[in-house]
Amino acid sequence: MRMIRKPAWAKVRRRWLALPLALMLCLALIPVASGAVTQPGLVPPDRKSSFEQDGVALVRIVVPDQAGIDRLQRMGVDLAEYTKPVAGGIEVNAVLSPQESADLKAKGFDVRGAIADQADAAKVRRQRSQALNSLAAQAQGTDTLTALRAEWFTSLPDGQRFLNVEVKTSDSSATNILTVAWDSGRGTEIGSGGTATMSRFTDDGQYMYDRFNSPLPVNVTPSKVRITSTSGGSVTVSVTKWLGEPRKKPNPHYVSDFVDHYMDPEEVYQRIDSLAKEFPELTQLINLPYKTNGYRRAAQAQFGTAAASTFYVSSKAYGSDGGNDISVALENPGSAGAALSVSVTGKNVVVHLATDASGQVTSTAAQVVAALGADPAAAKQLTASTYRGDAGAGVVAAAPATRLSDGLKAPASVKRQPFQVQALRIGAKRNGSRPGVFLYCQEHAREWVTPLTCVETAERLLRNYQHDPATRKLVDNLDIFVVPSVNPDGANYSMYDYNFQRRNMTNYCGPADSDPARRNAWGVDVNRNFSVGSSFDGYSGGSANCRGETYSGPSELSEPEAKNEVWLTQKYSNIKFAMNTHSYGGYFMWPPGAYKLDGRQTLPPVDLGTETYFWSASAHILNAVQQWRGTAIWPGRTGPVTDVLYSAAGNSADEAWYDQGIIGWDFEVGADKYDAQTGEYDEVGFQPDFAEGHEEAMEFANGQIGILEVALAYSKDKKDPRSSLSVTGQDASSTKFTFKVNEPATVYYTLDGSRPTLKSPKLEAAGLREGAESLTVDKTTDVRWFSVDIAGNVENNYRPDGRHTGYRHEVVRVGGH
Ligand SMILES: [Zn+2]
Repeated sequence: MRMIRKPAWAKVRRRWLALPLALMLCLALIPVASGAVTQPGLVPPDRKSSFEQDGVALVRIVVPDQAGIDRLQRMGVDLAEYTKPVAGGIEVNAVLSPQESADLKAKGFDVRGAIADQADAAKVRRQRSQALNSLAAQAQGTDTLTALRAEWFTSLPDGQRFLNVEVKTSDSSATNILTVAWDSGRGTEIGSGGTATMSRFTDDGQYMYDRFNSPLPVNVTPSKVRITSTSGGSVTVSVTKWLGEPRKKPNPHYVSDFVDHYMDPEEVYQRIDSLAKEFPELTQLINLPYKTNGYRRAAQAQFGTAAASTFYVSSKAYGSDGGNDISVALENPGSAGAALSVSVTGKNVVVHLATDASGQVTSTAAQVVAALGADPAAAKQLTASTYRGDAGAGVVAAAPATRLSDGLKAPASVKRQPFQVQALRIGAKRNGSRPGVFLYCQEHAREWVTPLTCVETAERLLRNYQHDPATRKLVDNLDIFVVPSVNPDGANYSMYDYNFQRRNMTNYCGPADSDPARRNAWGVDVNRNFSVGSSFDGYSGGSANCRGETYSGPSELSEPEAKNEVWLTQKYSNIKFAMNTHSYGGYFMWPPGAYKLDGRQTLPPVDLGTETYFWSASAHILNAVQQWRGTAIWPGRTGPVTDVLYSAAGNSADEAWYDQGIIGWDFEVGADKYDAQTGEYDEVGFQPDFAEGHEEAMEFANGQIGILEVALAYSKDKKDPRSSLSVTGQDASSTKFTFKVNEPATVYYTLDGSRPTLKSPKLEAAGLREGAESLTVDKTTDVRWFSVDIAGNVENNYRPDGRHTGYRHEVVRVGGH
């Protein structure tokens, strides 16, 4: 009862207190049909009980005067203890269901936006329970530390060694500081190698774990680390090696390195086309059905300097389709008392400005805009708008005939027409019988290294087919689809006009945001335009602002670039793996890639078996990357997108995984480079010097080949996994156990003696970046289970859907019984 508890507003609105609590309760509960409510009742049909309050929110209502408050009061509206004089009356706050809001609006009340809703409270509750957990840990005098990862690896320059540690503490309060100490090799004292303080990693207000901000360069290889906290926790773990497993030496006849400059999309697709012609028996070119909007724009001109007297015109035809030939002049008639008029001769538009009795020009920007709109011949060719939503009351100045221009600077070789995006399909058997792998690059225009990566991979596969048995295996047994530049229009714009262009070129902004100086701010972020976990579904990381860098577009899958990807993966249902290559930072990532704010509600995390598979695949793929010049992708940049980067609502890898079960991975090429002189890590940027860009393309082409090797292993995997049950803890009243598997696999189990099926509970991770959970039973239990690997092989060839009894079973005893 917000109203009754110490009402702050009572000093001002004391009369409200006269309404007794009992009556308030009655008003809230008595249905309107009972007729017991004498005032026109606002009875909440959708507030069934205190447990079913979906959509209830604290909202603002502005009433003209005290009588309005009284009216709400009589209707039994749940008002907060708050009033504020505002323009047009008094603001009060009310707790309303959506239905109540609608009813009040129908009764003519000015109901405004929400101050808080139930999700906000859920967030505050989570904060509270986190704080309580921390306090409980502090009260115990010690926190529990869980070491997630402790690894060493080598990377540039010159095989420099690095240490990476990730630890979770049960006391995530800011005052709890974690320190890592390491030895200087087997048998040496902990601390002899060095010590370093860790940083708390939080995301959306939620504690994730402690880590170093970047891997620590070390001079010796540590064998053990001890992590201690100021809350008294301590844990010691062995350091393992990250990456660097020896790979087979490449065949001496293996050829690579086919790119020697940054390529624009015309060059990229010409290369793909010529490869298709040269290797007809191994390839096929697929025209993707949705042509892009094209590298083209409306032609524009802007007149005026101050906002009020400024307006701009945009051609209806693209600049390349005749818009660039239009001219507009603002003519001072040179006589007194002239009226505003427009005349059009062919593509030449003349605005004859109005003058007053003394011959001074009087036409305002708004009047000229209106006159151009009203003249049918002008309106057929162009639209006119005031500047950024200004009322346009300033008088315009005369101006000579000015040619409109689309401003595009690319040479004529870049065609001003919708772009035909193509996929190069590579495989000796391209009939859908082989597992498909979809490699696609340059969704983001400014990431210039990425199309080179795709082109290099395609060319390596084709040119090594004859002489390299490993390549032949890939091409013979897989069905590979390469789309080297998903977003060619944006890519051209990035190369020739505005290098930081990320999005495509389609402008969805209204007149207030479409003046020529806004031209670099238009376009849709292709990798936010997909339909799974999108900003339209409430996920974070996509913008609704047409000028936002992550603008999601007007609706899901509105853009041809995004639709092409979906079409390809639906049409070729044998596609099982996909790699979305971006830049920069040096990442290897997988779903989920998006969460909702208010507690970081991610898309469903992959199950433990799949997660384990992703880690083991990443080891193979990142070893391949490292083989080129020694670059290590950091463990801290390997993992689900939401855990290692940020939330990217509506991205294509989530679309692939959640919608079609395609393993959708993401690369960010261009790992940070450690400078041993300064001890700092340098970012490489979107368009590094070509010498660096070339190396990035080569090493990540290695990575793409690594993905193909993983796909090949998947296609050959006919071996069923093996699992075992292992007791992890025991006391008088309960026993803890988990399952171990000999390869990445998901374990399904039952504890009630029933047959395990694919609907049974799965063994889950103990937590973010942690291994398998332990299950606890408090009585002797007949545990039944089976495991399934990523290729679908079931342990002991058990058939979970039939009546088969070939599952595993074991009795877990409690208290020695
Ligand atoms: Zn990108």
